Amino acid sequence: MKAIQVKQVGGPEVMELVDLPVPQPKVNDAVVKLSASGVNYIDVYIREGRYKTPLPFVLGQEGAGVVTAIGPDVRSVKIGDRVAWAGVLGSYAEYAAVPAERLVPVPAGVSDQQAAGTMLQGMTAHYLSHDTYPLQRGETALIHAAAGGVGLLLTQMAHNIGARVIATVSTDEKAKLAREAGADDVILYTQTDFETETKRLTANKGVDVVYDSVGKTTFEKGLNVLRLRGMMVLFGGSSGPVPPFDLIQLSQKGSLYVTRPTLVSYTITREELLARSSAVCGMIASGKLKLRIEHTYPLAEAQRAHRELEGRQTTGKLLLIP
Ligand code: NDP
Repeated sequence: MKAIQVKQVGGPEVMELVDLPVPQPKVNDAVVKLSASGVNYIDVYIREGRYKTPLPFVLGQEGAGVVTAIGPDVRSVKIGDRVAWAGVLGSYAEYAAVPAERLVPVPAGVSDQQAAGTMLQGMTAHYLSHDTYPLQRGETALIHAAAGGVGLLLTQMAHNIGARVIATVSTDEKAKLAREAGADDVILYTQTDFETETKRLTANKGVDVVYDSVGKTTFEKGLNVLRLRGMMVLFGGSSGPVPPFDLIQLSQKGSLYVTRPTLVSYTITREELLARSSAVCGMIASGKLKLRIEHTYPLAEAQRAHRELEGRQTTGKLLLIP
């Protein structure tokens, strides 16, 4: 089978299209023939070596397709089932072996591409807005990179809850998409100081929560736009990791909360995984949540997908088609 393998960490050029044997299922695995594999920013961190992974490895953490083989102890899925998953390495390939307990069913009304496109970013947007800081109607959220993969889904969920969304993006085209997703106010943070503008938009009251996936370039200013006892949800570092900072700042800026969540902790049990994936798939099937699949690339063009993602040229979801 064809797969995108990394033999040494580095830039996009370290992703090689190789021929590998189709994986065989271990006792608790199912083998899935992929229809689509999701491209996520975490793939960049893993490829670069920011998250240490034993070499060589097949990249990719998200996919959907059909079960073609199962291990002897697998009861939760059978051959022929349509399934999807997130958080298991090896999806940039024609086939992947996945622990069966991490697979979720893909319901009718949701295509394989939609499933592959919502598992990681959709469940992330869901836990951020419903659990990490459960947004309430009438509250205000600042969402950075709002036209990105997670950003467009999170903006829609926050809007659907009835919260006011202040979004940041880098271009006019992205601003339009953020508005269409339900953002009430959009700041071009590459041109306008988002701290000053957010304070103005909230009449100096500040926002209830900042959802920050950009990190290095936005974190500190984000703390300055929170209301008293507001929450900073730092869930990524697309611009680089946040440098160490002195916790006393949280006290000085108004008894703030900071959390650094990850999807794994919010899909840790089988029950939580199924509840969250079915909530997100339900939103897709009913049309409440629109997934913008901006681009599908052939598997062989994984390098190009990464260059465009890192170059801030993309919006919404990117998929690789094996
Ligand atoms: P995106 O589609 O959001 O792409 C990243 C975006 O970040 C860019 O489009 C860009 O938007 C913005 N950005 C700002 N500064 C930079 C920079 N210096 N370099 C590159 N991009 C920059 O990616 P994803 O939706 O896949 O992921 C978004 C973030 O969420 C990532 O940080 C990822 O790690 C994190 N994440 C965290 C999870 C968790 O559970 N903790 C799970 C899933 C994702 P603009 O041009 O508008 O600034």
